[in-house]
Amino acid sequence: MSSDIIETVEGKTKIRVPNRSLTDKVPPMEPAFFNPKAKLNRDFSIIAYSAFWKKFDGPKIFLDGLTGIGARAIRVATEINNVEKVIVNDVNPNALDLARESFKINKLKNFEVSENEVCRFFSLHSKKNSRGSIVDVDPFGSPSKYIDCAIRATMHGGLMSVTATDLQVLHGLFNKAARRRYHGIPIKTKFSNEIAIRLVLGCVNVIANRLDITMTPLFVDNAMHYYRAYIKILTRPDQDEKLGYISYCKHCGARNVENMIVSQCDNCNDKLQVGGPLWIGKLFDKEFISMMKNEVKELQVDKKCEKILEKCIDEEGLPPTYYTLDEIASITKSAPFALDKAIKKLQNSGYNASKTSLNPTGFRTNAKINEICSILKN
Ligand SMILES: [Zn+2]
Repeated sequence: MSSDIIETVEGKTKIRVPNRSLTDKVPPMEPAFFNPKAKLNRDFSIIAYSAFWKKFDGPKIFLDGLTGIGARAIRVATEINNVEKVIVNDVNPNALDLARESFKINKLKNFEVSENEVCRFFSLHSKKNSRGSIVDVDPFGSPSKYIDCAIRATMHGGLMSVTATDLQVLHGLFNKAARRRYHGIPIKTKFSNEIAIRLVLGCVNVIANRLDITMTPLFVDNAMHYYRAYIKILTRPDQDEKLGYISYCKHCGARNVENMIVSQCDNCNDKLQVGGPLWIGKLFDKEFISMMKNEVKELQVDKKCEKILEKCIDEEGLPPTYYTLDEIASITKSAPFALDKAIKKLQNSGYNASKTSLNPTGFRTNAKINEICSILKN
């Protein structure tokens, strides 16, 4: 067993991992799963949690419901200052053995290990003085069945982070499954990843409303294999309605964001495709992301993080859904502009416009599709 297990370093943390998880194309499930490609995802966690706890007036307790070999949790305990307790849970005893070894080699004492079904684990922490100030749900596939108990295990004013990896469902390949898991359906568009994130947030919103909880997204990120949201939890009912529909016109590229279903395009009268119900509120909190950006300097994380955070700050406040350069070029039948130039042209025409963290050739603007096309026509 021992030669199959090796030590790797991520950030400032030593992690004991199955050797094959570093060499095989797809990391094996046995003896335990570890995905080295999720480093950027974990880097963002360290940044977000560190920023969150700086302003949090309460105990720094991290609950990791589906910890696996504990990579994220061990990094939290090692790389963030003054963490009081990290409690990791999994059903796989082999994975937990590796987590214990990793806690040991990083000389950590502020941890507990739990071997339980995830909702049972969260239930043990759902009483008032046993909740976490940060609670993480990072499953294979959809997080929908764990959100309820994760919210209950998050203290008032705390943070819940949620990952989804059931990309086919979130991208519109199986709409029945999407409705079952997320209460809404996606539409296939150039901005499918934003629709996917909004479906996950919509599902959290439905559950939070049922529990008289207010949920507020602070930050979202995504890469090839995952979507992830960082959500502030307040134990009081939400007065605002932030569930709605995003509709899209395949014919002219127009979009609509409404509390109710709109099925006819107001630009070309064609029939709209409708996604939702989903979250139509904000994806980013500007102050929180600025704090995250400040944290980057003090942490050992990927250089990409700062660039992405800068884009989040710029796009905060702009409307849902982004446009891509090639989408506009194919409508106007002309060569696409460079991204910076396209944004400048929109701004010079009196519109707000920015890059988006969700797509390298994407931009957000408050201009309508026909205005965008006439401004960005070569
Ligand atoms: Zn249209």
